[in-house]
Amino acid sequence: MIKVDHLYKSFGNNEVLSDISLEINKGDVVAIIGPSGSGKSTLLRCINLLEVPSKGKIYIDNDDITTLNQRNVIKIREKVGMVFQHFHLFPHKTAIDNLTYAPIKVKQNSKDEAHRKAIELLKRVGLSDKADSYPSRLSGGQKQRVAIARALAMDPQYLLFDEPTSALDPEMVKEVLDVMMSLAKQGMTMAVVTHEMGFAKMVADKVIFMDHGQILEVAPPNEFFSHPETDRAKEFLEKVL
Ligand code: ADP
Ligand code: MG
Repeated sequence: MIKVDHLYKSFGNNEVLSDISLEINKGDVVAIIGPSGSGKSTLLRCINLLEVPSKGKIYIDNDDITTLNQRNVIKIREKVGMVFQHFHLFPHKTAIDNLTYAPIKVKQNSKDEAHRKAIELLKRVGLSDKADSYPSRLSGGQKQRVAIARALAMDPQYLLFDEPTSALDPEMVKEVLDVMMSLAKQGMTMAVVTHEMGFAKMVADKVIFMDHGQILEVAPPNEFFSHPETDRAKEFLEKVL
């Protein structure tokens, strides 16, 4: 499981995460919601060590990842996959090469094995026919599905999604949410920063509401959406629902 324990993060004098504690159990889907600038991305990036926390601890399967050396940081990134708003695919590689690159380089998978697995994963996200396409020839929804498949190619234990559908045209949102939903059903442990309240309601086991670098509410979605406790959450929900 992932355990964040009294985490703080500042950029210069700007404290953007302030005393964050949370737990994500195996198999759980946690939706992280809140206004822009509340620290959601920074929180995910700390969990993946893309940002170095200023204070506090993050445990992944009981390993304190805030004290790791570089080699172990790479191990954590294998374990904790990340999907970004803007895909971050390798533009000069085909879809399938995007999927095989890290398994070959980092996990020392054989080319054959990486290739076989990549084909399987592209099929799983409905993109068997796009294996040889470059990202520039794919729609936003297709790019994001390749990005999800690429994350899965590393056999992660946890997947972090940072607004995976926010950069998509509306008609492409569903195809990406459908893939995420099927991952959730298969038991993947996921933390999802999202403005898709329908997804949070339907799929999340727990909603975390953040504002100004703090967690204001943690609740099951039916509770959170029907009875938000704080005025901030009420205001936020009035704007987005
Ligand atoms: P959210 O994802 O909820 O919109 P972010 O985590 O991106 O919020 O940002 C929280 C705050 O941290 C914002 O005020 C943002 O300007 C600041 N911030 C984020 N990343 C950096 C950075 N690399 N350097 C300086 N400030 C940053
Ligand atoms: Mg963000």
